[in-house]
Amino acid sequence: MFSQLVGSTVAALIVGSIPLGFAVWPTHWPLVAQLALAFAATELVQYTWHRSCHANSVLWRVHAAHHSAPRLTWLSSARFHPLEVITEYILVYTPLVVLGAPPVIIVMFTVATVTCSLLQHSNVALEMGPLNWVFAGAELHRRHHAADPASQRANYGTILIVWDVVFGTRYMPRRREQQPDNIGIDGLTEQFPKNWTGHMLAPFRDQRQFYETTGQREMATARSSNHRERLARANRTKSAIRR
Ligand SMILES: [Zn+2]
Ligand SMILES: [Zn+2]
Repeated sequence: MFSQLVGSTVAALIVGSIPLGFAVWPTHWPLVAQLALAFAATELVQYTWHRSCHANSVLWRVHAAHHSAPRLTWLSSARFHPLEVITEYILVYTPLVVLGAPPVIIVMFTVATVTCSLLQHSNVALEMGPLNWVFAGAELHRRHHAADPASQRANYGTILIVWDVVFGTRYMPRRREQQPDNIGIDGLTEQFPKNWTGHMLAPFRDQRQFYETTGQREMATARSSNHRERLARANRTKSAIRR
């Protein structure tokens, strides 16, 4: 929670100081239409960022704190390293500010995003039926938090699931009652930090030490950063998606 506060404050100060501003936002549209535009404009950025966090070994070090919890609760929506919060918020809010979105849209977008994230991570048996083809709700996001690495390479959506559909990374088991038994990171050891300070320092630990604590032995013994990236790319293709 503290990480979210620090990260969002730093990101707001940085985005607020951007001198560029093009008054091209359609402020004459109804608020609902403007909000839909804000989602459309930002969801692809969030999808790309989140997918990169799983595909890139450096970004994964920062994102691992979010996945390290052994069970999902609404509090998991705030379990992020501040570096991830700062980077993601700058990437998401900069287009809105530069395009000239009014403050009311930015506030409504933020409230909707936070609310969806709370629901997405909450420990509820919420079935959304056909809406699972539009929104990245709890059912879909729970699959993303399944412990096996292959399941984590699916359902990257933040509010909408549309870009997962477009890029073929949406995964919903045929039998919906088959929710994952294990949440977290496969092979995570007791040495992975459990307190706030430990999470803050984890991305900066010695590479071998970091990957040993997350159970990724191949990555821990990689000979070079190029080798590590090749392993990360190879892992990315092992998807849990079965069609
Ligand atoms: Zn993730
Ligand atoms: Zn999550």
